[in-house]
Amino acid sequence: DVQLSDRVQSIKPSPTLAVTNRAAELRAAGKDIIGLGAGEPDFDTPQHIKDAAIEAINNGQTKYTAVDGTPGLKKAIINKFNRDNGLAYEANQILVSSGGKQSFFNLALALLNQGDEVIIPAPYWVSYPDMVIVAEGTPVIIETSADSRFKITAEQLEAAITPKTKLVVLNSPSNPSGMAYSLEELQALGEVLKRHPHVMIASDDMYEHILWTEEKFCNILNATPELYDRTFVLNGVSKAYSMTGWRIGYAAGPAKVIGAMKKIQSQSTSNPCSVSQAAAEAALNGSQQCIADMLVSFKERHDFVVDKLNALPGVNCQPGDGTFYAFADFSEAIASFEGAETDVEFAEILLEQAGVALVPGSAFGTPGCMRLSFATSKEILADALSRLEKALS
Ligand code: PLP
Repeated sequence: DVQLSDRVQSIKPSPTLAVTNRAAELRAAGKDIIGLGAGEPDFDTPQHIKDAAIEAINNGQTKYTAVDGTPGLKKAIINKFNRDNGLAYEANQILVSSGGKQSFFNLALALLNQGDEVIIPAPYWVSYPDMVIVAEGTPVIIETSADSRFKITAEQLEAAITPKTKLVVLNSPSNPSGMAYSLEELQALGEVLKRHPHVMIASDDMYEHILWTEEKFCNILNATPELYDRTFVLNGVSKAYSMTGWRIGYAAGPAKVIGAMKKIQSQSTSNPCSVSQAAAEAALNGSQQCIADMLVSFKERHDFVVDKLNALPGVNCQPGDGTFYAFADFSEAIASFEGAETDVEFAEILLEQAGVALVPGSAFGTPGCMRLSFATSKEILADALSRLEKALS
């Protein structure tokens, strides 16, 4: 019998992918399943982006590129940071990777030693803790609740920092909560971080463009520019341009660490797909109207879903600021539901009996909640919510 590494045995498969797979299995077995577990927009990739990829193929851009990304794409990323975020980077501060997931993975491997602590506010994107564990770091989770709109306070951050803290992860707007930090809230966190110069910061801005607050998008560097030399900004084209399958993400930050991340990438995957890089360049340089169009749909569905969720007995869903997720507190509903003790059991029953796939909050470090992805049509959402209503009454 093969003895697997301690490393692989210390992590679990992505729970969101697991829910999606389970839904697909049941569907293949002939069951009528509505999958609201997936973390990807339902729209097609815009045509001008696809055209750029086809052109790249026909032009022979089908070979290895520079490990850290083509000069053209890196220039587009530098321009994007300038245009959208007021941030200035040089080419040696940018690393393009095969999705935002690889960007964070590279960062964890380049930065962490055994026992280094990484502060992760819950609810968190499912992959952060496991990627930290693969890199032999120690996740330190800060818990939040609906009362603080699932955001951490400066006091909580201060209390979590120790001499072993290496990195703090911020993700705003957040997957799964949909909440975004205001400039003021980020400034308060920034004040704490200024007092702890040994702590680095990862700002995961993946949902930057899926935001409908009055205040425009801001990240920790907009709030506290003094943190520039120890902040990594992670972003990508997956969510904004409906390009999840193309696998392009990017990181910006201090050249020394970006160089170390590049070294890791050079010995693992090398360059991200050449054709996808051409497509991403077109996405970043082209018209941004496609983002605005998708945002209108997401906001409409958000309003619809949040209303319907709040009408369910024992369910409380705060309106979000962005993303395509609703994160609702189901704890009362689960407590009064026969046959389920936990959110995980409840999700299983919903899937088997109501044919609706939601991701339990436990997966994100916040038990009692459920994440519903509204990256699907209004009709399907209406059907799913009436199934939930029936299941709960
Ligand atoms: N960061 C967050 C918060 C996400 O939700 C995701 C995707 O689900 C990613 C990063 C990674 O995106 P990808 O690897 O698909 O580019």
